[in-house]
Amino acid sequence: MSTETPARAVTHAQYAIEAVDVRRSYAMDGMKVEALRGVTLGIAEGEYVAVTGPSGSGKSTLMHLLGALDRPSSGRLLIGGRDTTSLDDAGLARVRGAEIGFVFQAFQLLARTNARDNVALPLVYRGVGKAERRRRAVAALEAVGLAHRLTHRPTQLSGGEQQRVAIARALVGEPRLVLADEPTGNLDSENGREVLNVLERLNKERGVAVVVVTHDAEVAARANRLIRMKDGVVVSDEGQHQ
Ligand code: ADP
Ligand code: MG
Repeated sequence: MSTETPARAVTHAQYAIEAVDVRRSYAMDGMKVEALRGVTLGIAEGEYVAVTGPSGSGKSTLMHLLGALDRPSSGRLLIGGRDTTSLDDAGLARVRGAEIGFVFQAFQLLARTNARDNVALPLVYRGVGKAERRRRAVAALEAVGLAHRLTHRPTQLSGGEQQRVAIARALVGEPRLVLADEPTGNLDSENGREVLNVLERLNKERGVAVVVVTHDAEVAARANRLIRMKDGVVVSDEGQHQ
């Protein structure tokens, strides 16, 4: 396994993450689908950003790139000022594991695994010992108000509780950035509000940068910054951190 010691970028080091002219196209039945057609943006440390736009406008594709779950077809992605272009998959996974937490619409919890062990899972891949994993998982569940649900399995939890477990899992590695792609899409409005309150609180109290994709106008209005996408480009970006 290679060990990278990439230089920190001299400029824009205040960005938790920065995309520079990123494009992403997919090959579909011999046709080229251009999901992102040149997006440049930076997410500052501690920012709270909402991303909106019609279905198919490239929001999820952008989130996957920002989260280093995918690579751009062209353009560059910098995480913590570090250019990820030259990293191999293992290097990319390491940066992702250290810097970024993900929250998906469909929760993506292990069904037969209790809340505490679901939350502890990312730490397994980071070589953290069992006792320490459990300690940190419990702390993360406490942070999302689920200290009383440690040994419940996902099926024994409400949708809102499941999503809060997923948020705890995203937080357990102490990322600088949490990316949430339509985290309330499978929830009723009450549970959805609860999940958003947790994300907002984590941003305010811990300074974790949060980017949330949403169709909810209320959520978008509560964010400090609103990015609107259409047809694979950013059409407006308001309230940007200076
Ligand atoms: P959004 O999240 O805004 O709904 P997506 O980023 O999921 O948009 O998709 C943007 C465009 O890229 C859409 O036209 C979609 O059909 C296409 N797309 C997304 N993922 C794939 C894929 N894996 N293969 C082919 N086309 C894809
Ligand atoms: Mg999407």
